[in-house]
Amino acid sequence: MAAYQPEIEMLPWSDQRKLDEPSYRKQVKYLFEKSRFFRDKLRQHGFNNAEDVGGLDDLGAVPLTEKDELRASRSDADPVGTYLAAPMSELTRIFSTSGTTGLPSYVPLTVSDLDNWVTTSCRSYSASGAERGEAIVSTYNAGPFVAGAALEAFNRLGLCHIPVGTGNTERLLAAIKLLKPSTLACTPSYALHLAEIGAARGLDLPSSSIQRIMVAGEPGGGEPAMREKLQQGWGAKVYEAMGLGDISVSLWGECEDQAGMHFSGRGFVHFELINPESGAVVPTTEGATGELVLTHLKHQGAPLLRFRTRDHVMVWTERCRCGRTSPRIRCIGRTDDMMIVRGVNVFPSAIREVVNRFAPDVTGVMSIRPGAKGVKQAPPLRILVETAKHIAEPGALAERIEKEIRATLIVTTKVEPVAEGTLPRTDYKTRLIDFSEAAATLVDD
Ligand SMILES: [Zn+2]
Repeated sequence: MAAYQPEIEMLPWSDQRKLDEPSYRKQVKYLFEKSRFFRDKLRQHGFNNAEDVGGLDDLGAVPLTEKDELRASRSDADPVGTYLAAPMSELTRIFSTSGTTGLPSYVPLTVSDLDNWVTTSCRSYSASGAERGEAIVSTYNAGPFVAGAALEAFNRLGLCHIPVGTGNTERLLAAIKLLKPSTLACTPSYALHLAEIGAARGLDLPSSSIQRIMVAGEPGGGEPAMREKLQQGWGAKVYEAMGLGDISVSLWGECEDQAGMHFSGRGFVHFELINPESGAVVPTTEGATGELVLTHLKHQGAPLLRFRTRDHVMVWTERCRCGRTSPRIRCIGRTDDMMIVRGVNVFPSAIREVVNRFAPDVTGVMSIRPGAKGVKQAPPLRILVETAKHIAEPGALAERIEKEIRATLIVTTKVEPVAEGTLPRTDYKTRLIDFSEAAATLVDD
């Protein structure tokens, strides 16, 4: 599809900062006026008013915001948190995030917030080439979750949306067979799982109506080997999208060039990279990597300033052939999932990427079993890798995988081959790390 808003998406990226500057200053002023959380936080850091905070060029001096701080600001009196900036009477939607601990985490949106989210999602999804009049089948359980806003974009784009929900493989396969949608929206794990089911049942998925798969919800769809496996299993192109409940859904979306996800939130959100250990700003130049930090520019419900996403990304700034000028990223992994093996930083998804180079001798399903709790791990790092049925000597394959991981990631591993179908499959997100057998002791290097 042509760009959703070409007059915005094709503007030179170098002009964006100038356009965002007044929005940012206005947003900071709004935070001082309406957000108890940020007024207090900024004052504690010596910023007494919006003028003290300055503009985007001074952003690096503004304190980062951690998810835990937001969580700690919630109570029965302030169920959303003290960072709620709009009166409840002005909200149009309150989503919840699928938090893992105790109290629910609420995401309040005003009419304009929701509209900006849907606009952002429209830019993101239209990049994949889905055209007005096509049908898209989705497997997300929107329910209380922010994915609901992303799904609203399908209507606005003129797509026919067929929601089948999570965990209903039969309904999904029936919808594909009978309603012939061109696009499937799901997590990469689920797309892989479906491809396996299809192959096992002798279904010819590559001959199905599905031409494109929009994957989101976890990293993986952008890893070359995983993408190749999905594309072969489905005979379809894979496009990745990514967003964040606290900031905006589908904030990034891949175009038909499949060369990383374009930033879709221009004008609404400002992004930067930091070194996750030191917090220092990393310039967003071609090939730079770092943790993604996001700042709202025009948000009203609960705007966030320099929010740490914990997503570790690689960025590309060179011009894309599609004409969209915003930088592109690929998520390398979660800062939270990063392990340090004898001083070397390793992301589980990076290990999976190397293991998948051995497809079709490996199934693409693996499980990292760290020996100790915590970030630091002593080598060798144990990894269970599913090998395909046709492999006669899995031990020899395991040794080759160990060598390849060592050569690529400088990490010593112990790869243990397991039979195809041994490890659990999921219709949502795959857990690449399993700490259930880890000793309680920490490694101190
Ligand atoms: Zn592009």
